[in-house]
Amino acid sequence: MHPLAPILLSDARAVANAAVDCLVIGSGTSGVTTAIELAERGLKVAILEAGPLILTEHVGSGPFANRADIVPQIHDLVRFRTTWTSEKELAAVQARTAETNNNAWSIVGGRTVFWGGCTPRFRDEDFADWPYDADEMRSWYVRAERLMGVSGSEGDNDTPPFMTHAAQERLLGRLAAKDIPATHAPLCIDTRSVHGGRMSLGFDSSVSRLLRCKHFGRIEDGARLSLAAETEVLQLVHDGNVVSAVTVRDRTGETFAVPARHFVLAGGCMQSTRLAMASGLADVDPLVGRYMGDHLFRQAVFELPEPLQEKSLYIFIPPTAKRPFHAQLQGMFQETWYSPLHATCWLDGDANGRYILFYCFGISKAEEAGRMVLCGDGMAKTDYCIVNERSPGDSKTLAEMAKFTADVAAGLGAKVVRTEENAAGSALHEFGGLRMGRDRASSVTDPDGRFWRIGNLSCADAAIWPHQGSANSYLTITAVALRNASRLAAGMEAGQAAMAAQ
Ligand SMILES: Cc1cc2nc3c(=O)[nH]c(=O)nc-3n(C[C@H](O)[C@H](O)[C@H](O)COP(=O)(O)OP(=O)(O)OC[C@H]3O[C@@H](n4cnc5c(N)ncnc54)[C@H](O)[C@@H]3O)c2cc1C
Repeated sequence: MHPLAPILLSDARAVANAAVDCLVIGSGTSGVTTAIELAERGLKVAILEAGPLILTEHVGSGPFANRADIVPQIHDLVRFRTTWTSEKELAAVQARTAETNNNAWSIVGGRTVFWGGCTPRFRDEDFADWPYDADEMRSWYVRAERLMGVSGSEGDNDTPPFMTHAAQERLLGRLAAKDIPATHAPLCIDTRSVHGGRMSLGFDSSVSRLLRCKHFGRIEDGARLSLAAETEVLQLVHDGNVVSAVTVRDRTGETFAVPARHFVLAGGCMQSTRLAMASGLADVDPLVGRYMGDHLFRQAVFELPEPLQEKSLYIFIPPTAKRPFHAQLQGMFQETWYSPLHATCWLDGDANGRYILFYCFGISKAEEAGRMVLCGDGMAKTDYCIVNERSPGDSKTLAEMAKFTADVAAGLGAKVVRTEENAAGSALHEFGGLRMGRDRASSVTDPDGRFWRIGNLSCADAAIWPHQGSANSYLTITAVALRNASRLAAGMEAGQAAMAAQ
């Protein structure tokens, strides 16, 4: 148990006895954004988080930023393995004779403790399959960028990019000369000025955002917003129309029910979908667990002709109407192949390095056959796999991404040292499973993420997305969570007023 637990964390039993308005399952950015918005609107909210409290901020905001030896060990305290597979391999995965091939995290703050900070917005066209358009999202993007401390965004937040220097300008110039328009990366690192009593927020992490919130405290002390850690939600208790409680296992190993008026799934796309399936919701709606996907992901290492003489760079090449993918260039390094788990390795750059890491994320169209299959009863966090096949459209985009990798290297005057197409699921930008829509026949949740068939249940994370743009998911998850929490609060306030009037 973390030494701060007696000050910061609530007992799950106390949550069960407190008659909270809203229970939020998961403390990543989707859960914490939702919980803070609801608490600020006067509702009593508790977050149930399966993982332990380990850090109170992002690994890159504190002393570990440059400790490439220590950070992986922190990952390993809370990381577990999962599987993406094909139809052909499915039986072996279900029999648990196949190797796992993917990563997931369970910790207070979720993946926000480790993420890489790249925060582009979706393009307007990316909302084509959504139940609302880019105009509806714009104000939520602005609010999300402000609360996360995004710098260098295309929006109107007016915060200078984190990474700017003459050497980076030189590389941007080289790319522009080859008709590859690139920019400073939008990053979720607060660059607003530090003065007059204001400190930088560093990297955004939901755990630090939660701890900064004035409503947050222990439920035992009457706090409006609280969190019980090491408390895993095992099942939703429902009758097909209403959820009355969730069954949890707390850190002592005891199992009991926690009631609330409303329940929000925010376990990350995979775990929210698994929990819905483990609770029998696929029997209520057969679309539960369908239309799941992830970005197409190509990675490379380039060797520049000269060292940049700058420790770090971070460049973003946006997608275009003809190019359904974007690229991120991070450096400088000595020659090394980085795994996606080294998301913040660019903070520990090397001015004499000549090597750049190249990540390219492409859109994979959501297909109904992209689905979750439970292994066993689905009650444990590892009891699932994702079935995913590359479509002809995916193969075409992947081929274009391979060519683009070579074009960018040539544009920089660099050599491609190594390049690789990463496996499905490895981008860690998953979506779908509880897709939203305007009509209950073709979607699981309504445009606000509320289940069509279960009135007091909603989902805040990317499980509700019908599709995705090439942009990394964190900013859009946060903006959508903010939008939906605001609408949920308005609905719950109206419900309370109607009850009071009776
Ligand atoms: C190494 C790395 C680098 C990344 N880099 C970027 C980047 O540069 N840009 C970007 O946009 N995105 C990036 N991402 C992805 C981004 O971090 C995620 O998309 C986002 O943080 C997901 O937020 P979430 O709230 O949906 O879920 P998570 O962050 O996964 O949080 C869910 C939480 O819910 C808890 N939970 C789940 N089920 C239960 C249950 N049954 N009971 C109780 N608790 C439960 C989990 O333990 C977990 O802590 C990166 C991810 C990783 C891992």
